[in-house]
Amino acid sequence: MENSCIFCKIVAGEIPASKVYEDDEILIFSDIHPIAKIHLLCVPKEHFRLLSEVTPKRAALLGRTMQKIGRIAEDLGLKEGYRVVINQGENAGQTVPHLHLHLLGGEPLGWEK
Ligand code: AMP
Ligand code: ZN
Repeated sequence: MENSCIFCKIVAGEIPASKVYEDDEILIFSDIHPIAKIHLLCVPKEHFRLLSEVTPKRAALLGRTMQKIGRIAEDLGLKEGYRVVINQGENAGQTVPHLHLHLLGGEPLGWEK
């Protein structure tokens, strides 16, 4: 846990979130400022910021997170498709320094830089 990290605080239950799924290593909750009809944040509970910090253990955790996203998308009925996004660093607009995957869907999605 990183003391100043808002997602670590959500994982620790110190800040409320609208949770969709939780197990011992993954938390999925609604984004507070949704940019699509469905906008979930899929957060491995372990704190690290970047894909460049991924170890084999973390790679396996990210794999399980992706697998869970597939299941959740199915449960939500996102048959028409959805998007998974990982913002990395300043140019990509990463605002929370705890690696997370955005799940966007529920409507057609534009594709812009
Ligand atoms: P990123 O810009 O990729 O780092 O994504 C961070 C996301 O976290 C943004 O889409 C924010 O809207 C979202 N966010 C920030 N604080 C909270 C919070 N307390 N609860 C839910 N989502 C949050
Ligand atoms: Zn964190």
